[in-house]
Amino acid sequence: MQFDILTLFPEMFTGPFSASIIKRAIERDLLTVNLINIRDYARNKHRTVDDAPYGGGAGMVMEPEPVVLALEAVREKRGGDMGPVILLCPQGEPFTQRLAAELAEEEHIVLVCGHYEGIDERVRAYTTGEISIGDYVLTGGELPAMVVVDAVSRLIPGVLGEETSPVTDSFATGLLEHPHYTRPREFRGAAVPEVLLSGHHARIARWRREEALLRTLVRRPDLLATAALTADDRRFLKELATHLNRLNLGD
Ligand code: SAM
Repeated sequence: MQFDILTLFPEMFTGPFSASIIKRAIERDLLTVNLINIRDYARNKHRTVDDAPYGGGAGMVMEPEPVVLALEAVREKRGGDMGPVILLCPQGEPFTQRLAAELAEEEHIVLVCGHYEGIDERVRAYTTGEISIGDYVLTGGELPAMVVVDAVSRLIPGVLGEETSPVTDSFATGLLEHPHYTRPREFRGAAVPEVLLSGHHARIARWRREEALLRTLVRRPDLLATAALTADDRRFLKELATHLNRLNLGD
């Protein structure tokens, strides 16, 4: 998988891409990240890449030409064979695990990071989609680009040491994941649930599934509407509902 990231601040990526799992994926050639400085494509004398907005108002707007020239350079370098070109934008499609899984199927992805007030509207015609990482506004698209690279990369086969890890992650199954415990067996009076020490794989799997259902019900009941539930899952949730009704909590 190759990411080409267009940014005015390539130095921002140094830390996150030179540590831990992403660093290892790059070293093992499972992942290539090219950082392209949009300023290198500024054609004016002072290499400026932004200007005041037409119509007035605060802030600066990124000019279309350097961004489009940078995109054209990527296309040319790849012999015209380009994957999705995604603009990071708070107005874009909300980034989800499903979208990360879709992108993990691609061989090449271009991410375009805005800054200041954003990029000139006409650049949108050169992109294939827009992604928002949440309903809040950041100073630039660099952190969102890092989020996308991280979430997508860990789904590429071989990137995580344990091949099966992303399969049970929150959202991958449509549910939030079950809780995790490690040594010691007892920490400041809080014990690890007995079932996890039993060595009984089927009971452990059922306990984890039920904890995942319970967590999802309490924290994100909206997810249950679309999660793939088994007959056992439905029985468990019905039992829970019956217990709750018996408690007769009133209005
Ligand atoms: N004026 C824009 C608006 O109100 O929609 C916000 C511009 S923001 C200050 C500058 C850049 O940060 C955007 O062009 C985008 O690339 C990036 N950005 C900010 N928040 C984002 C988010 N939630 N998701 C993805 N990108 C974001």
